[in-house]
Amino acid sequence: MDKRPDKCAHPSCQCDAAPDSRYCSAYCEGQGKTSDIICNCGHTSCGDVRETAGTMA
Ligand SMILES: [Zn+2]
Ligand SMILES: [Zn+2]
Repeated sequence: MDKRPDKCAHPSCQCDAAPDSRYCSAYCEGQGKTSDIICNCGHTSCGDVRETAGTMA
């Protein structure tokens, strides 16, 4: 029972990957091999990191 990771394949991305992709968005798909400091995919999980509320698991 191999469970595929639901995480985006982008190293710096914390979003959930799309069901039919290893990445959450086209951005990460293009930047997948670029270990950027911050993911700019646009999702709230990565985009709005101003407030460090309690998103860290
Ligand atoms: Zn992201
Ligand atoms: Zn992503």
